[in-house]
Amino acid sequence: MKKICKKCGLFACCYFFIKNRNICKKCHSKRDKIYREKQKEKRKLSSKRYYKNNKEIIKYKTKTYYKCNKESILNSLQSSRSKNPLKYMYADAKYRAKKNDLPFLIKIYDLSIPKDFLCPLLKILMRRCAGNSSDNSMTIDRIVPEKGYVPNNVWVVSRKANANYNSPTLDRIIPDKGYVPDNIMVVSFKANTIKNNLYISEMKVLLDNWKKKIQEIKTENQNRKNK
Ligand SMILES: [Zn+2]
Repeated sequence: MKKICKKCGLFACCYFFIKNRNICKKCHSKRDKIYREKQKEKRKLSSKRYYKNNKEIIKYKTKTYYKCNKESILNSLQSSRSKNPLKYMYADAKYRAKKNDLPFLIKIYDLSIPKDFLCPLLKILMRRCAGNSSDNSMTIDRIVPEKGYVPNNVWVVSRKANANYNSPTLDRIIPDKGYVPDNIMVVSFKANTIKNNLYISEMKVLLDNWKKKIQEIKTENQNRKNK
């Protein structure tokens, strides 16, 4: 038996139609999808409204529940963190990016935990499991901070390295020349450590910044000489 779809006018065998209805399967699934999207929005709005109207009660209930089950909640959080540390580091970084208005274009597969859990900057053993954060916790660091969380600009380092990397250190531009006026520059701890440990591909990311910095130092030295 053949039927006509009241939506798209399809004239075809009833196999292509919803049983006992004059609407084809294609149109029906389309309508279904739209309906589900609408319901989703509705549910979102209604739960938002519910939260707004019952804010105090919900807060009180959550607080009490947390108080009574603190240990088990923390335990389960810790175990899920240690099972999948990257997932949580990723979420933390996303939060920081939003807070500091930085670009966030990385996906979780752009990240990898260093081999043997050694911090690439400090060579200290990083903790496998998360929990209370400490110097040994793993964090996602931006190699060039201004670039934000973009692919090829992030790596996993220890929290200690991440916290200290901005402290200034003195570096020799040409190591063999030693610490003489024309051959020194003040660079961050991170830059000083990083340049010995990087692969060429990683170094390339930093190169532009380095060139600019060296040029600045050279001009500065030249100006000093001319005075
Ligand atoms: Zn149809």
